[in-house]
Amino acid sequence: MQSTAEENYIKAIYKLSGSGANAVSTTGLSETLETKPASVSDMLRKLSAKNLVHYVKYHGVQLTEEGQRVALKIIRKHRLWEAFLVQKLHFSWDEVHEVAEQMEHVKSELLIQRLDEFLGHPRVDPHGDPIPTEAGELRELEQRTLASLAVEQQGVVCRVKDSQPAFLQYLNRMGIQIGSNLKVVDKIPYDNSLEIKIDKTKSVILSSDVLEKIFVINP
Ligand SMILES: [Zn+2]
Repeated sequence: MQSTAEENYIKAIYKLSGSGANAVSTTGLSETLETKPASVSDMLRKLSAKNLVHYVKYHGVQLTEEGQRVALKIIRKHRLWEAFLVQKLHFSWDEVHEVAEQMEHVKSELLIQRLDEFLGHPRVDPHGDPIPTEAGELRELEQRTLASLAVEQQGVVCRVKDSQPAFLQYLNRMGIQIGSNLKVVDKIPYDNSLEIKIDKTKSVILSSDVLEKIFVINP
């Protein structure tokens, strides 16, 4: 079990190393975490003793396989909480990161399993970033605009390009949110607007301007 501080180090190393591929310098780490180099070295020795990092003084630090596993778990929790905050508690997309920074350190595996189930096993967070699976796999998902779907095709909303309140309110009013299933019912050739069925219930007409701002993944 790791402390919150240890988890923040692991996360920072994961991000700075480009998903764990490269070694990270302790200076880079101390700048990112706004900590003195001496404290960074102390912490790295601790993490090394727990077999979470390979650390050689003056040669930088790299996550071990176990360290990678822990990093992906933290990212999974962070992104699941972000999805929950947006979908269920109606936080706006730019508010969730700070809150998720706190919630990602929750220890209960059962809570996270239930959260994942409750949300219907989402594959992306509200920013469009993929959520690692329980097994620790991270797959980048192909995103396309809603405008690119043909009649009868469907997609799940993973991201929007415009975070202006007016646009988000418009989506709210239409009943569209991250995770909504959208199916193209018909195309109106005159202005390229589409008739869209939302979550298999109501249909709305969306203008091509709106269609270009909504990104979906395959359901
Ligand atoms: Zn975040």
